[in-house]
Amino acid sequence: MELWRYTVHELHARLCRGEITATALTEAVLSRLHAVEDRIHAYLTVTAELAQEQAAAADAAFARGEVRSPLQGIPLAIKDNICTRGVRTTCASRMLEHFVPPYDATVVERLRAAGAVLVGKTNLDEFAMGSSTENSAFVATRNPWDLERVPGGSSGGSAAAVAADACIAALGSDTGGSIRLPAAMTGVVGLKPTYGRVSRYGLVAFASSLDQIGPLTKDVHDAALLLQAIAGHDPRDATSAPVPVPDYTQALGRGVQGLTLGVPREYFVAGMDPEVEAAVRAAVAQLEQLGAKCLDVSLPHTPYAVATYYILANAEASSNLARYDGVRYGLRVEAPDVVEMYRRTRAAGFGAEVKRRIMLGTYVLSAGYYEAYYRKAQQLRTLFRRDFQEAFRRCDVLATPVSPVPAFRLGERLADPLQMYLADIFTIPVNLAGLPAISLPCGFTAQGLPIGLQLIAPPFGEETLLQVAAAYEAATPFHRRQPALA
Ligand code: GLN
Repeated sequence: MELWRYTVHELHARLCRGEITATALTEAVLSRLHAVEDRIHAYLTVTAELAQEQAAAADAAFARGEVRSPLQGIPLAIKDNICTRGVRTTCASRMLEHFVPPYDATVVERLRAAGAVLVGKTNLDEFAMGSSTENSAFVATRNPWDLERVPGGSSGGSAAAVAADACIAALGSDTGGSIRLPAAMTGVVGLKPTYGRVSRYGLVAFASSLDQIGPLTKDVHDAALLLQAIAGHDPRDATSAPVPVPDYTQALGRGVQGLTLGVPREYFVAGMDPEVEAAVRAAVAQLEQLGAKCLDVSLPHTPYAVATYYILANAEASSNLARYDGVRYGLRVEAPDVVEMYRRTRAAGFGAEVKRRIMLGTYVLSAGYYEAYYRKAQQLRTLFRRDFQEAFRRCDVLATPVSPVPAFRLGERLADPLQMYLADIFTIPVNLAGLPAISLPCGFTAQGLPIGLQLIAPPFGEETLLQVAAAYEAATPFHRRQPALA
């Protein structure tokens, strides 16, 4: 089997036994990347030279008998809204097309310290605003399972790269579903940690009260390994939680005996794809067969989630994106006076969706509308949190679909932003409540498109997610299926 097909944990074992070198592995992954990239367009920047240097350093460490982490020598990809010192970080925006950060995000610093190899920066919807990766200012990423379809978004580049074996694992970010949705649509595992579990320092801010960084991987074990490397308190992010990080791999073999699984009835809605519903219901039945108890639960405020999210996320975005003024960094379009310079810079630098969000966000925050929109949405946020708290009194974990539909065709939802927003209906409540959730493969449509199962846990319940996901994965074949890319 070609080296690029393996998982992080398999490769780690082989690297430790000296069967392979990080240099050979990195060469193999780079050549795979180059073989598929003109069809997938997962990357905005490929850092081949840096990868080779880091691989050589990893090999030297292995030769000294030094093994710093399971990620040592492993080629990884990073979503291009996460700052990498000396490596262009564009957010898939013209505004930051030539921006080279002078510092690393904390997660990147941790990956470097772990001895990981950076193969490149992956495509996304501009500033992570979108559900299909079509909002990238540079290129639309294709779904490896069907090149005419989107990979989901906004971490579509990371998901497609993992699904196509153009990296071994990747990092994405999730504000309203951007890790889980593309994971589901490309048949990989995606984990959105509890708000505060992973430092946001160096993640370009979209909606700061919702954003979290997390892994996209080929299996559940790898998700545990990546989370382990990036989780933990960071004094440079005041919202990162001073909560100890458990050994996540310990959770993997525990099984589901004795756990109660809640199935929220509001997550099976009219209009959802029947094949998605059937696959998710079958996954619940499978978990029941493995020993979990299943329970019907209710999250009554679910129908308000999309509206609430698109008020709060846009309000925060309009404020966060005010910093792109042509003065400090990024694009600058000269003009006779400073106000005109701002206007021209922002008109040229931002794409249509980003402008739409800034306008909507500014509107809901403006005097006269603030009470009716922003404040109301904040109140609703409390109700979402309570819905989950109520449900978790009766169960340990919730099982739901990730997306109401499998990967849609390129262009299909671009004309109607609301249709695009509705793809997030089952992922958004998790961000509003700050909870951890995982997406993992649970089947395929008759046309061969992947379907995702979402598991949701109480705050800092990542171990429970990994425990249930690992048990399900061990009993099912879906994660082993490969897209038919030559
Ligand atoms: N699709 C959602 C949005 O467009 C979520 C994006 C994300 O999680 N970054 O806002």
